[in-house]
Amino acid sequence: MVVAYQAPKEQHKIENPYQVALAQYDRAARHLNFEDSIKEYLKYPQREFTVNFPVRRDNGQVEMFTGYRVHHSTVLGPSKGGLRYSLAVDLDEVRALAMWMTWKCALVGLPYGGAKGGVVVDPKTLTTAELERLTRRYASELIPLISPHSDIPAPDMGTTPQVMAWIMDTYSMTVGYSVPAVVTGKPLNIGGSQGRNEATGRGVIIIMEEALQQLNMYPANTIRVAVQGFGNVGSAAALHAHSLGYPIVAISDVTGGVYNAKGLDVERLYAYAQETGGVRGFPDGDYITNEELITCDCDVLIPAAMEGQLNERNAAHIRAKLIVEGANGPTTPDADDILNDRGIHLVPDILANAGGVVVSYFEWVQDLQSFFWDVDEVYRQLERIMRKSYYATEGTAEKHNVDLRTAAQLTAIQRVADAVKTRGFYP
Ligand code: NAD
Repeated sequence: MVVAYQAPKEQHKIENPYQVALAQYDRAARHLNFEDSIKEYLKYPQREFTVNFPVRRDNGQVEMFTGYRVHHSTVLGPSKGGLRYSLAVDLDEVRALAMWMTWKCALVGLPYGGAKGGVVVDPKTLTTAELERLTRRYASELIPLISPHSDIPAPDMGTTPQVMAWIMDTYSMTVGYSVPAVVTGKPLNIGGSQGRNEATGRGVIIIMEEALQQLNMYPANTIRVAVQGFGNVGSAAALHAHSLGYPIVAISDVTGGVYNAKGLDVERLYAYAQETGGVRGFPDGDYITNEELITCDCDVLIPAAMEGQLNERNAAHIRAKLIVEGANGPTTPDADDILNDRGIHLVPDILANAGGVVVSYFEWVQDLQSFFWDVDEVYRQLERIMRKSYYATEGTAEKHNVDLRTAAQLTAIQRVADAVKTRGFYP
């Protein structure tokens, strides 16, 4: 018997990312013809893990923190997905991100299921020693779940290669030998991969160029790009696009944004943001808010910060002709409808930002084989997978006469559903 799905009770805020993920799922699954039991099964996270744990601050006081790890699916392989350190982390956000990881890995053909984790913390409020203690304690709470063959974390918002190094070390100390393949996104000197840091942003730009070609938008020096978010994804995307000759007219982060119609000097802005903690106050441009960045005068918009940024309040005012989603879940379903009606070409997150997990997969393969590739090989294989996935998704969109998000999701859902059917329901 199939039991009807009930929305989770934890919270009901508008644009709850999990409700967004479920709405997208329903939209895509409608086009697929597979058993209701499988359709229902794939809506649920397979496992949800909540941990409450103490961390000693440098002043000797002990504070409690809450963390999560959700495995949405392990049908196609071990679960894979990032860890987020942010005050906005909650169970529904982690559920949504885990589900999107399942579709992302399936879409680009990786032998992984989907997971995500996070700790409710603003890492900027911790000293390095406190961050290390928090990470090691959270990692030790995750030991029953993670391993190279069951669940492999990676960086996401608020976490870094150093955080991955502490997790790898904590796991290795527990089992008694070094296990680099338990996390990806590690520093190079302990088994990281060449090109992993830049992989997500680089992948975003590979996809942007494919879409521009399809839309007959060229040459590069006439295509004005705006990027929201200047962290791992946003900065790598902006720096790479800048190096290819695209004028980057606007960039923002949590401190605000900066606009220059002639194009920003992205390398200088990057150095400035590293030094001052944000892009705000950069002298060679005008200050804009994050909301103004979304609707600024540009040709390509790359949201690369967080969920829900393109919504029913601003979608009608977006001026870009192409949107490439660097962030996960930056567009709400209402905004999707408005953008589709307006004929704006949108490349969805699970395709556009898959470069990160693709190179994470390369890192895992290299760690398991103890055989490391040079950066040219990493980039060559990354490009191959990203371009192939873009054209497969375009083909599906044409075949089903749907937008790219629905096409990407239905391609992925079909692959996971086929695997469920072949494996059967246990027992
Ligand atoms: P990050 O922590 O390195 O950077 C986040 C950026 O967003 C920072 O510049 C921060 O200032 C900015 N930001 C935070 N809150 C903001 C707000 N309210 N308004 C505007 N800007 C804000 O994180 P990241 O790894 O670059 O991740 C960004 C997005 O990309 C997330 O949605 C993440 O899930 C997604 N993503 C990351 C990877 C990866 O490999 N790191 C891979 C795929 C997708």
